[in-house]
Amino acid sequence: MKLKVLTDNNTYIDEYYLGEPALSYYLEEDGRKILFDTGYSDVFMINAKKMGIDLGAIDYLVLSHGHNDHTGGLRYLKDRDLGKVRLLAHEDVFIERSHEGLEVGTPVKREELKVKEYISGKDPYWISDKLCFLGEIKRVTDFENKPVGTRYDGKPDYLYDDSALAYKGKDGLFIITACSHSGICNIIETAKKVCGDERIRGVIGGFHLLENNEQLKKTVEFLKKENIKDLYPCHCVNLYAKHCLYEAGEIKEVGVGLELNIE
Ligand SMILES: [Zn+2]
Ligand SMILES: [Zn+2]
Repeated sequence: MKLKVLTDNNTYIDEYYLGEPALSYYLEEDGRKILFDTGYSDVFMINAKKMGIDLGAIDYLVLSHGHNDHTGGLRYLKDRDLGKVRLLAHEDVFIERSHEGLEVGTPVKREELKVKEYISGKDPYWISDKLCFLGEIKRVTDFENKPVGTRYDGKPDYLYDDSALAYKGKDGLFIITACSHSGICNIIETAKKVCGDERIRGVIGGFHLLENNEQLKKTVEFLKKENIKDLYPCHCVNLYAKHCLYEAGEIKEVGVGLELNIE
């Protein structure tokens, strides 16, 4: 599987891609071309073009959850020809949601995306023999999954739509996550169950660790036990959290243009 970071908060020195506080990945796996999240603006498109990636050729549009730093880019995709594209996302990706008085939900309705097929992301879905969308994440830890703002119905938003991808590689699972509102440890446990492999080879993405709190401490303890070879925290992981995560393994830097080839 090939993974390319199209959008992230970070950019590398001497590489003139655009960054924004958002996330988008492009993946190629077993002949399938996959766009996983779209970032906040059209930055993912501008960067993809510069990288020589043709987003007009994608087979799958996969959405991790309905926050606009992951789905805002849909505003720039909706008028494109998506007639060959399968949309894979939990129903709740398209609900209205707000946080601190701001609308933070997906700015495009599902019907506005004229795709070939909509696949519900509630349950696990295998995109190829090795690449799986995990569906709803089972909440098993007691220190993760804090609500963010409010749903359209006035209830606190636990983001039941929040999910991730897992690749079943020869040395174990490689997990590709977005914001991990459901909890990075919960995501790892779900991936192990769904994919039938206890070995975690790597994790890339936002772990939603932005405070020095109990969750950070317990997450570091959890990850230490997992013995993960490659840890790529980005997007919603602050500097202090990255510093603490060093206890769990060698932290690798993520930025726009990062390419990983995972066997
Ligand atoms: Zn989010
Ligand atoms: Zn995010």
